[in-house]
Amino acid sequence: MGVVPLKDILDPAFAARYGVPAINIFNDLTMEAVLAGAVESRSPVILQTSVKTVRSIGSRVLFDMWQSMTRGIEVPVTLHLDHCPDRAVVTECLKAGWNSVLFDASELPVEENQRQTIEVVREARSYDAQVEGEIEAITGVEDDHGSDQVAKRQSLETALAFIDATGIDVFAPSIGNAHGSYKAAPVLDANRVTEIVEARSIPIALHGGSGLSTEQFQDLIARGCAKVNISTALKETFMQSGLAFLKQAEEAGKWDPPSLFKHTRADIITLVKELTEQFGSAGKAGH
Ligand SMILES: [Zn+2]
Repeated sequence: MGVVPLKDILDPAFAARYGVPAINIFNDLTMEAVLAGAVESRSPVILQTSVKTVRSIGSRVLFDMWQSMTRGIEVPVTLHLDHCPDRAVVTECLKAGWNSVLFDASELPVEENQRQTIEVVREARSYDAQVEGEIEAITGVEDDHGSDQVAKRQSLETALAFIDATGIDVFAPSIGNAHGSYKAAPVLDANRVTEIVEARSIPIALHGGSGLSTEQFQDLIARGCAKVNISTALKETFMQSGLAFLKQAEEAGKWDPPSLFKHTRADIITLVKELTEQFGSAGKAGH
């Protein structure tokens, strides 16, 4: 219970084939509300920060908030750095106390990506931290990172060789998923997850989760996607909840920020509870 290594959350999820929401928080309110939602659901949860969030708030303040908000928490939680191509930021977050990092060198040739990922894994181990790796960009832009060009796929052999050589703990393949909102229902190559998991027993991270159907989530989780990333859905909930509240505030001529925060917090808790139900992680903490 409390703050645990990423492995301690993903290994049981992978073994029992449920998914754990890995949610990109971006301020104090979202951090607190996502944790509160996980506690209400009795679910493990992964909180993630983009490099943009680390830069906007600062690793020191972010980590102080995290420590303060997770003190005595009754469900397993872990702090992860999402897509980070910058080795200096990886080091900064590991030093500050993040539990895991996604070193994203998918822009580099696979050989160079692999060489550097081996170094990042070694560095992370010295902090008892874990590493997620990827060799293909996930289509779409998220927090100023990435591109809308459809990602190029590597062969299964290349993916397996990368997993073996680097010793990464979680792998994030491209399966037709994308960051941001889907314009049309995505066609996913779910079989790619099965191929990787059958060849190597490694938890898979599903990116671009916001906007997939319950059936798609459940199929991918059953195949081994134990870490299910959610970013856009929280951003939309945060903004739309705020917008709806502010419209009412304007009509009523009442401007009370704590009421706005309370309203947004409740909507975020509802979102987190829905996700944990959908992914099967609700009720999995504390057994
Ligand atoms: Zn991602």
